Amino acid sequence: MTNAIQRTELRTFYYTPVHCPFCGTRVMGADPEDETRITACPHTLFIAHDTAFEYRSVCLDENLNLTGLSDKEVEERWLGEKGGVDGLTNQVTLADAIKVAAYAPYPSAYGSYYGFAPTE
Ligand SMILES: [Zn+2]
Repeated sequence: MTNAIQRTELRTFYYTPVHCPFCGTRVMGADPEDETRITACPHTLFIAHDTAFEYRSVCLDENLNLTGLSDKEVEERWLGEKGGVDGLTNQVTLADAIKVAAYAPYPSAYGSYYGFAPTE
């Protein structure tokens, strides 16, 4: 039995800034000068949206067998997956990992995905 990543979805308050559940680091939009800048903490597995990965941790790469792949090669991998980046990051099996999926409402149909896991 695989231990799939636990998912939380934000659909109404999709714009709420996401913080790491383990240390409280605000991973997106913490810099008022540049709200698109990301801040990965030691628990961050990935930060992605429908068109690209912004951040991939070593843990994520090992768990999904992405080690050594360039962003381009990873992109080819998830383009072949059902559900794209969302589907690929649902396959994480690290213990107690948590994923936040924020879906902007129609017509934008734009998702942002954040993954976290406790460290030993
Ligand atoms: Zn953290």
